[in-house]
Amino acid sequence: MTYLEPGRPDQIAADLRGAFQQRYGAAAAAVGRAPGRVNLIGEHTDYNRGLVLPLALPHATYAAAAPRTDGRVRVASLQDDSVWEGTLDEAGPGGPRGWATYAAGVLWALREAGVDLPGADLLVDGRVPLGAGLSSSAALECSVAVAVLALAGRDLDAGARRLVVDACIRAETEVAGAPTGGMDQTVAVLAEEGAALLVDFDTDESRPVHLDLAGLTLLVTDTRVSHELIDGGYAARRADCEAAAAELGVPSLRQADLESVERIGDERVRRRARHIVTETDRVQPVADALAAGDRDTVERLFALSHASMRDDFEISCDELDAAVAVAVEAGAVGARMTGGGFGGSSVAIVPDERVEAVMRAIDTEFALRGFATPAHLRAEPSAGAGLV
Ligand code: ADP
Ligand code: MG
Repeated sequence: MTYLEPGRPDQIAADLRGAFQQRYGAAAAAVGRAPGRVNLIGEHTDYNRGLVLPLALPHATYAAAAPRTDGRVRVASLQDDSVWEGTLDEAGPGGPRGWATYAAGVLWALREAGVDLPGADLLVDGRVPLGAGLSSSAALECSVAVAVLALAGRDLDAGARRLVVDACIRAETEVAGAPTGGMDQTVAVLAEEGAALLVDFDTDESRPVHLDLAGLTLLVTDTRVSHELIDGGYAARRADCEAAAAELGVPSLRQADLESVERIGDERVRRRARHIVTETDRVQPVADALAAGDRDTVERLFALSHASMRDDFEISCDELDAAVAVAVEAGAVGARMTGGGFGGSSVAIVPDERVEAVMRAIDTEFALRGFATPAHLRAEPSAGAGLV
């Protein structure tokens, strides 16, 4: 069985400092850490000004940084051999290529926001599986942001946290070119230990929701079907949502109701909008149910959410459908796919004593059907980004 431990932050940071010293021949001045996330409910609702309920994983990305006096930037990753080197002025849109857009783009976006940054050498180590719908991209961005803000002498107070969220969203959308909403960066920076984060993208307000998970485990299964948010699927969903809002004459689908959505002319656009409107309506009830330990409501709304993503929004796949169905058959209270879709991960709420059985049942089903071997992890609600 493939099971992913988050690792100990102090140990990972110490190892990363060693690797940094070896690569650059100098000591790292700061190590930033930012978590991946799993979303419990509210998929594709962020860019429709809706609600989401993600929590930060104990699995995180770590970024070691040292300042440079010549205004140059070097970025390297323990997960990818390609490196990027350029000036601070070259770190923006059209400069870096590949994975480095996410890292270097953060320096560009922070400078755009008025932060006076030095040049920097950076080395990252990501313990969030890449492209698994668990937001390794925001973990990467936010870990880099925290590290370079420390180089600039800025404390990570509430104002700086907001700055990091906004800069990392700009890096992802404008430099990396992934047309995502703001959920991932928001939870990576603002999450609190032991709680999920309820975010309202109409008001940009968020609050922690303490979950009653006594006797329950949040089990995440990475199907190993890798999604690419920068190819067309995600952008096409977003375009359909915008078309739906335009047809209804509302600024976003947050202002639409189901009755008017059912009158949308185009069948596909109608289904896309139906997912957004019904999904947003499920978020607060799931938050309340998880806070109160109401398992029946969680089971029902997770099932409706998964069906909506599969049938109306069409972002699931055979592996995700199988992981969800098998988890429920093997004893999960509820299960659904999570993240942007087109592959990625499922999340199941499982009685502690059933966790092993659920993992094994999913592995067996995947083997029988010739799918890749999935990876499992436990999603203990963890704190947002910080220095190690
Ligand atoms: P997700 O955020 O769900 O993991 P994305 O497609 O949004 O999926 O982001 C994955 C991409 O982020 C990777 O393909 C890679 O370009 C980049 N990335 C994330 N973490 C790292 C890392 N530790 N090293 C190099 N690239 C990374
Ligand atoms: Mg991502």
